[in-house]
Amino acid sequence: MIYLDNAATTPVLPEVVKVMSDVLLSTFGNPSSIHSYGRIAAQKVRKSREVIANALEVTPHHVTFTSGASEANATALIGYALAHRALGNHLVSTEIEHPSVLNALSYLHDRHGFEITLVKPKKDGSISADSIIKAIRPETILVSVMWSNNETGQMLPVAEVGDYLRHHSAVFHVDATQVMGKIPVHPLEIGADFLSASAHKFHGPKGVGFLYHGDLKFDPLIHGGEQEEKRRAGTENIHGLVGMAKALEFALDQLNQHYDHVLALKSHLIEQLTGLNYYKNEFGTSMPYVVNLAFPGINHDLLLTKLDLAGIAISTGSACTAGTIEPSHVLSSVYGEHAPQLKENIRISFSEFNTFEEVDAFVLALKNSLK
Ligand code: PMP
Repeated sequence: MIYLDNAATTPVLPEVVKVMSDVLLSTFGNPSSIHSYGRIAAQKVRKSREVIANALEVTPHHVTFTSGASEANATALIGYALAHRALGNHLVSTEIEHPSVLNALSYLHDRHGFEITLVKPKKDGSISADSIIKAIRPETILVSVMWSNNETGQMLPVAEVGDYLRHHSAVFHVDATQVMGKIPVHPLEIGADFLSASAHKFHGPKGVGFLYHGDLKFDPLIHGGEQEEKRRAGTENIHGLVGMAKALEFALDQLNQHYDHVLALKSHLIEQLTGLNYYKNEFGTSMPYVVNLAFPGINHDLLLTKLDLAGIAISTGSACTAGTIEPSHVLSSVYGEHAPQLKENIRISFSEFNTFEEVDAFVLALKNSLK
């Protein structure tokens, strides 16, 4: 099998599995316990938080561990909005965010009466900082923008929006899930007050992530014990945290080499497609890790199945809920909800472990499937 669906999730590194199994088998104490098992476990939690905080260039107690980016996004959006209702009633985001942002905003609107403005991409798919800034009002309390889109790789102008918001009372949340471990991520540099990520997108385990939140106050989503400085109750997922920290250390160690390799993979792929009738769903500057392609008149579900039978795992980049395939809300936002493009897109997403030979094998299988 050739795995080219790394934007969905990445394979866990053997080194990560090793440190996780050590925790599960020997240092399994509850960090809240007073005895030495507890103290060793608490030390692991502390160390893991330091690794994440050092990577972000922030202080450790400004980072809260979560079950992933969905929870981090919900904590930032719902937790902050509910705690600061008196400051204003309006939030701004974009139409192409991940469902964990869009549905948290819908919840705030439907159940709590917040007003939400979602910025629409232009005809060419781009979303400018200006269009986001224009949507901000005096009563806006939070702006949420993803750093890179999970379906197309499109990068959004987070630094420009962050710069503007330095002089505005609204706080800035950045969903960094698709860039963490791939490019330098420093919330203070881009003016982010909140920043979310998930370990399984950078070769860590599933079900663990973090929220950077600085000194901001927000309502916890989970009430209970005093873990995470009362920001998120529940016994810590120590093996998950240790695994996430290990995976991030690995990613940061060779950040530029990994990026350059993936960039070369993407160029190689595009070269190999010469002569085929296709278009790219690429909207301005993109992360090379995600390539969204389409073949006019070719149904993507059929193509995906044929490729799967040929041993290649890619995706259509669409959400698959309870057996129904939903068209991509990202592409629908650009092309319109009835556009034929919505049935044609396929997403190829790389990790640094993919090879040129795998790209060649994919292109061969693709050409056979298209026939
Ligand atoms: N945001 C983005 C941009 C994502 O790509 C994802 C994962 N697809 C998430 C949030 C949610 O991450 P998780 O499923 O790990 O909670």
